[in-house]
Amino acid sequence: MSRDTSETGTIYLVGAGPGHPGLITRLGHQLLQDCDAVVYDDLAPYELVAELPPNIVRYYVGKRAGRHSQPQKETNSLLISLAEKGLNVVRLKGGDPFIFGRGGEEVTRLKEAGVPFRIVPGVTAVTAVAAGAGIPLTDRRDAAWLLMATGHEAASASLPVPWEEIAALRGGTVVIYMGVGALPEIVKRLISGGAAPDTHAAVVVSGYTGAQRIVTAELADLPRSCAEQDVQPPALVILGDVVKRMDGVGWMQPGVLAGRRILITRPYEASAEICGILRKYGAEPLPLPTIEIRPFEDVPGWDGFERSSGRHGWIVFTSRAGVQHFLDGLSRRGHDLRSLHDLEIAAVGPGTAGALWERGLKAGLVPTVATVERLAEELTAEKNLRGAVVVRVRGDLSDDTIEKAVASKGAGIVRLTVYRTMTPEWEPHWVENVKEYPPDYITFTSGSTVDGFVKILGRGEALSVAARSKVVSIGPVTTKVIEDYGMEVAAEAALHTQEGVVKAILLLGRPVTPV
Ligand code: SAH
Repeated sequence: MSRDTSETGTIYLVGAGPGHPGLITRLGHQLLQDCDAVVYDDLAPYELVAELPPNIVRYYVGKRAGRHSQPQKETNSLLISLAEKGLNVVRLKGGDPFIFGRGGEEVTRLKEAGVPFRIVPGVTAVTAVAAGAGIPLTDRRDAAWLLMATGHEAASASLPVPWEEIAALRGGTVVIYMGVGALPEIVKRLISGGAAPDTHAAVVVSGYTGAQRIVTAELADLPRSCAEQDVQPPALVILGDVVKRMDGVGWMQPGVLAGRRILITRPYEASAEICGILRKYGAEPLPLPTIEIRPFEDVPGWDGFERSSGRHGWIVFTSRAGVQHFLDGLSRRGHDLRSLHDLEIAAVGPGTAGALWERGLKAGLVPTVATVERLAEELTAEKNLRGAVVVRVRGDLSDDTIEKAVASKGAGIVRLTVYRTMTPEWEPHWVENVKEYPPDYITFTSGSTVDGFVKILGRGEALSVAARSKVVSIGPVTTKVIEDYGMEVAAEAALHTQEGVVKAILLLGRPVTPV
């Protein structure tokens, strides 16, 4: 897209869907990948923002610790000033921008300011919630109309909702957005307007997510049931005969990790998979990387690699990032997998071996314990390395264990440092958020993710946050780094992979069976 500053950029008001990152439209997703900047708040699923390429600038306009969302006026000014700089901006909004989303107010201001805009619809909460809860909103046996109302009109200075008139209507479905706070008042007004006290009613909390919960009651009892079950937003109220159709149709069961917030510290490009798995269990992944991997291009090692072509030997990988950046570098230099023909392949553990396998390469040596020391031992144990070449693919933080071990056996070494590890900055609201509401679990998948966590939060805060959550480590090497900082490890993965980390979390959550 254009970054021509002489031209005003376009603002895309994009509906992100209500809570599950898969519910954005293809068009909305494409615009996100292509924009220059994104302006988002708490209602849009954070994974959609976290996965964006690092060159896209993010602006958070949601709630900050201790204060409400940024006033609408400031958001409007931000959008206008970004467009005036020539940037194409996605204004990402939860659900649909034009359903209780203030999208209308935003475009009115944009129009006044002469800023071009486009609007991309989204799945609004009620359609996703009904799908997740199994409530056919307009089942023709029960409902001939669907009415959507806000329960928040007083606070949002909108027109009053005529609850008494709505109460007099029959044969349809009433849906109330933002209705939790004022529920007792709304129910009172509906009943006084003539709604039957035994009207079928449901409140769906965090619909279409693994944390979905449904409270059903007769209308008159709904406020009490919600109070008893501690219903908190986001929740949607659904009233009408269609609610009774839910029986047997409600298919979305809360997962075993329902509502648990799990911090994922590895780089986003390597964490999409674990986020997806955790969501299936109902957890809310927080992809906040504490390390960032950047490729080193044209490192001197490549010439050595090319010169050693045809010599027998080994190529050794100790990380997923190594696999990716080595293979990317290989094709950048015009080679393909055949150039590895004379090399046997070693990988430090199942995660690295899996990354190789995904790219069409099978590791012949994977030690049973995933440490470089063990890899070095097994590599040097029986293999005749005299005169062989060992291509060591690594990052800037890797140590020399492998190099020293194979050199002592007479191998020639080609060192390829294909990536470097950096500490990213967290947006300030994430720092505040994590300090104030520590996640239920923090996952560390390498020593460098632990170092990054401590660097970003500062040692004191890092220790305090870790003490209030459960720290899960991928394996013994990472565990040592965590413990050296003085943090406690609640669980260590038996299998040193992302799946192993998920399993360790599941085991932690399981109630202890008495023996
Ligand atoms: N523009 C959004 C609505 C914003 S108002 C849309 O089209 O969906 C926010 C309200 O939406 C919440 O108070 C709640 O009533 C509802 N909501 C959003 N996501 C929800 C979810 N996953 N489950 C239940 N209600 C949800």
